[in-house]
Amino acid sequence: MIADSSSDPRLERALASLRGLAVGDALGAQFFVPANYPLLKRREVPPGPWPWTDDTEMASSVLSVLARHGRIDQDALARSFATHHDEGRGYGPAVSRLLQSLEGGGDWRQLASAMFKGQGSWGNGAAMRVAPLGAWYADDPEQATHQAEISAYPTHQHREGVVGSMAVAAAAALAAAPSGPPTPEALLDGVIALIPRSAVGAALRRARDMLDYGDATTVAAVLGCGRRTSAHDTVPFALWSAARGLGDFQRAFWVTAQVGGDMDTTCAIVGGVVASGRGGLGSEPPELWRERTEKLPDWIPVEVG
Ligand SMILES: [Mg+2]
Repeated sequence: MIADSSSDPRLERALASLRGLAVGDALGAQFFVPANYPLLKRREVPPGPWPWTDDTEMASSVLSVLARHGRIDQDALARSFATHHDEGRGYGPAVSRLLQSLEGGGDWRQLASAMFKGQGSWGNGAAMRVAPLGAWYADDPEQATHQAEISAYPTHQHREGVVGSMAVAAAAALAAAPSGPPTPEALLDGVIALIPRSAVGAALRRARDMLDYGDATTVAAVLGCGRRTSAHDTVPFALWSAARGLGDFQRAFWVTAQVGGDMDTTCAIVGGVVASGRGGLGSEPPELWRERTEKLPDWIPVEVG
């Protein structure tokens, strides 16, 4: 079944967010290529094509499950992650092993809770894939946060991994609010109010206090920018950058990429949140960037155009 996104505003918003996420992911990943380092300094893009990574592959599963079920069905989501898992897309080793076990018939409930000696994963993987879900639930940020929590569990069960996902979904929902884009302060205040007490939440409060900093490098040094690929060293900086970049996709991308760290993931989060917004054309990735980004997977049950 191929759904027509123009007949469903939820799907249309989620697809816009996924496109932004894919461009952020694919272009961010380009700057791990040493030949492209000088381009990053000059804010120039490399020639295409830019393949996307695990961030887009998993986000495509999130969107597919929403399009088919109208909400997050955890078993369907786990199945989609496992079926479409392509090891060459840069998955972390622990998630790759988990998805292979799922493909072999394992139960995500046991496998995901047993990770990291029973603590579950606090990686940024549940956060990196969830912005389109937030866009889907733009008229109900609380439901966005709740569904994000559910969507994390098949792979990430540590509190920080789950809350990181909730925070990104909340941000995408608030950015796409029917009342129009929030101010940077209102966006982060809104996210903080929607998530439980956690290291992610504490760092988001610090990010809120640093919104007037002009120097992203300092902010990234304080908050982290994904070098440890944990939710709490990825999500606060990414949402700081997204909050300041609503309505200006290009600027948000460069500010995020130029501090380094886990660039495909920080830029996927920022791209997904900014592109879910209603800031007009500035919220969308430039046409040239979209053309150079690998097309979304053909198994998404949506006419992607
Ligand atoms: Mg990636």
